Amino acid sequence: MYESKYLINFLGMASLASIIFLGIVILVKMNKIRHLNGAVTKLKKSLDEMDEQAKLIVRTDIELNKIQEELDKKITGLYALQRLSHQMSTTMEEGQIFKKIEVEHLEDLDFEKACAFSWSSAEKTFILQMSLGYTQEDTQRIKSATDLESAYLDLIHSGKTLSSDSLQKEPALRDKIKSIFKVTSFVLSPVSPKEGDKGFLFLGTESIDTIISEGDRELITILANQIGQALENARLFEKTWRSQQDLEKKVEERTQELTHTLDELRIVSKRKTDFISSVSHELRTPLTSIKGYASILLTGNLGAIPDQIRERLDKINRHSDELVQLVNNLLDIARIESGREIMKKEIVDLNAVTEKVSDLLSVQFKDHQIEFSAQMPEEARMVSADRSQIERVFINIIGNAIKFTPAGGKITVQSHKVDKNIQVDINDTGCGMPEEALEAIFEEFYRVDNLINQQTKGTGLGLTLVKHIIEAHNGKIWVKSRINAGSTFSFTMPESTQG
Ligand code: ADP
Repeated sequence: MYESKYLINFLGMASLASIIFLGIVILVKMNKIRHLNGAVTKLKKSLDEMDEQAKLIVRTDIELNKIQEELDKKITGLYALQRLSHQMSTTMEEGQIFKKIEVEHLEDLDFEKACAFSWSSAEKTFILQMSLGYTQEDTQRIKSATDLESAYLDLIHSGKTLSSDSLQKEPALRDKIKSIFKVTSFVLSPVSPKEGDKGFLFLGTESIDTIISEGDRELITILANQIGQALENARLFEKTWRSQQDLEKKVEERTQELTHTLDELRIVSKRKTDFISSVSHELRTPLTSIKGYASILLTGNLGAIPDQIRERLDKINRHSDELVQLVNNLLDIARIESGREIMKKEIVDLNAVTEKVSDLLSVQFKDHQIEFSAQMPEEARMVSADRSQIERVFINIIGNAIKFTPAGGKITVQSHKVDKNIQVDINDTGCGMPEEALEAIFEEFYRVDNLINQQTKGTGLGLTLVKHIIEAHNGKIWVKSRINAGSTFSFTMPESTQG
């Protein structure tokens, strides 16, 4: 009994301990469950967040794809635009510019219908310039849609591009355009060259998926501007071409007139030369006999001559000499002018010619107290020329220099090479000449009106002869001079190619 009491107590204790133990276990488990619940909630939250992010990524991807598509469309459109504008800018025919828009360009721009009209201000009507995807009937309908005419003109006037999307606030106009042009979306852009008739370009599509974006509107505006620019260039080219044609025609007419005048002048000049030549010939014979008789009488062989008569005979003799000189010069000029006087070309040393001429004129240098010097370097001396004619050139120019240079003055001759020519400069410190005489002195009978010319005799033929001789040698002659500042006569002669 005692034992069973102990057993009962022991069992009671054990049960209590088990209950306590179980309670502790339950408490621990519950704690764990609470922790687990917290973790599950956190996990769920992260899963939700991840799901949100995944959705965002998918949405972004879709948008990116859309943007990419838009970009691709834009790039294709830009390429089409670039090709088109190149073709247009190289077209100089106004009528051909609109025709450069082809189906493939439209496809690249995502349209399948296009047409363009220009407004003829003279005929007060729209003229069809191009159409794609439309029949003749369609374009006729578009053209004669009188209720749209003012809208077309407003568009041209405003210079602003319209599209089916931009006309949301004007549904009546938008729907009218849609039905007349048989499209669901469209862009209508003005073509406004600075000069001449303006117009508009229409591009549209029947596709219901097409949405006309801001970018599409911009592209078509650029295209319409390019057309305007190309039209402007073509019109400008046409204008320039026409004025060039006019100018060429005028130049041709003037050239013909001038050739005719030149022919007439040649005939007159030949007549003049022939006349001078024959008169001079006629004069030379009687002059020679006058001079001959005067000389015979002066010898006294035909009887003694009183002083008074001798004096007059001397005058006759001197004047006859002057006349013979004049006649000879005239005959020489006429001969060279007509090409009858052939230049006998040989190698001539200009230094030797200068020495010979200065020798000939030495008495005059002395009488006029003029210092003469010449510098002709070896490489600028040898010319191909007619020796006696070239001597005449030097005698005439240096003779004039002596005549027009006061005592104490200087005359210098210098030469140098210019390309394949030798240039000779004959300078004096004489009275010089006015500007207006610089060309005239080479004309027949021209003499400057100055004191020296009033006091000395001269024919005004010397320099004419000199010019003819130089030109007969393919050379040139000119003079630089100023009143009271001396003169420099310069001429060129072809250099001798031998020796
Ligand atoms: P001429 O000497 O017989 O008058 P030229 O034909 O030789 O005829 O010369 C024409 C004119 O050119 C001269 O009358 C003179 O007025 C002018 N002239 C020529 N050489 C000179 C010079 N070295 N200095 C000033 N005037 C000159």
